[in-house]
Amino acid sequence: MPSPQLAVIGGGQLARMMQQAAIGLGIHIRLLAEAPDVSAAQVVPDHVVGDYTNLDTLRSVVAEAPVVTFDHEHVPPEHLRALQAEGHACRPGPHALLFAQDKAAMRQRLGALGVPCPRNAAISTRADLDQFGYPAVVKTTRGGYDGKGVWVVHTAADADEAFASGRVLLAEELVDFRRELSALVVRSPSGEMASYPVVESRQANGVCAEVVAPAPGLDPTLDAAARGIAERLAAELDVTGILAVELFETADGRLLVNELAMRPHNTGHWTIDGARTSQFENHLRAVLDLPLGPTGARAPWSVMVNILGGSVADLEAQRASVLAVEPDIKIHLYGKPVKAGRKVGHVTAYGDDLDIVTARARRAAAMFTDGAPQS
Ligand code: ADP
Repeated sequence: MPSPQLAVIGGGQLARMMQQAAIGLGIHIRLLAEAPDVSAAQVVPDHVVGDYTNLDTLRSVVAEAPVVTFDHEHVPPEHLRALQAEGHACRPGPHALLFAQDKAAMRQRLGALGVPCPRNAAISTRADLDQFGYPAVVKTTRGGYDGKGVWVVHTAADADEAFASGRVLLAEELVDFRRELSALVVRSPSGEMASYPVVESRQANGVCAEVVAPAPGLDPTLDAAARGIAERLAAELDVTGILAVELFETADGRLLVNELAMRPHNTGHWTIDGARTSQFENHLRAVLDLPLGPTGARAPWSVMVNILGGSVADLEAQRASVLAVEPDIKIHLYGKPVKAGRKVGHVTAYGDDLDIVTARARRAAAMFTDGAPQS
């Protein structure tokens, strides 16, 4: 086998979809997978199974690869600095990743940059929270995902679980938002940047349920402002690859940054089928410092709906029924065992009529979750 051009740390669905883009570009990826059967290990032949918190394991994976990128943001920064010192380019680098790993560091930096955020404060005691005031959103600064590590608190007692977690906590104002938006930008080490249309992201139980591209009815000045925030942050924080900026559009028409992700993001999955260049292809192009691809939409509307684990245990067996009902749906299954509420795939529909496109995507996803087609 030729030597790898890119090492990818983490074997989840994001790495799996990076491989899909790498095939076309002829990029040889070497993967570090958490277990032999994880999502990306099924499709990347050159993979090592091991622990991403072990520096020697990381060294063995990246040995022949000049560039390293990530499926997740959890690799210890000191290990990344060691790899950098040994001549590997980590994209994004640990100095940028900090702001996706630690919500307190992110809030502090964004505050210093004057980027609008919910009012927030570090809290270590109940007295701190009382002083911050209610209602509030209490979050662990590290390790949260899909709403785990986020508590909406109306009284001191609501924060029992948060304080019992023993984690470092941050309090934020409970934002009265109209909806959640996401602005994706991709940036190369040479500074080239491109931004995707701003999308609306809809959550259910703290998990992204569906994404509509572009965000329906978004005021053009807010669209430009959201893209501007994402581009400015990518440059100021020196992000390479995809940066996703999750935003609140407030009831009174302002934008506030919720959080940052520095990897391909669930709110960009629609780009595989709905944009001229997918976020995965542009992530690979960016981290390898290749020219970036155009980010415009292929159709007026794209709707991505996540397939969450439900009563259908065998997704592959359900494929034929879904395609019989929705022959024009784009199916992406992640090869993961079905567990209740877990993201096990997504579907995307695109076209000219938002209502029709939304109904098609929802129907296909529901068939993968619950079986029966919705009328
Ligand atoms: P995670 O890291 O788990 O994705 P987030 O910080 O993105 O956590 O929060 C998860 C969800 O909780 C958000 O998508 C949003 O719906 C809600 N949320 C988070 N922060 C606030 C806030 N300050 N005000 C209102 N809702 C919030």
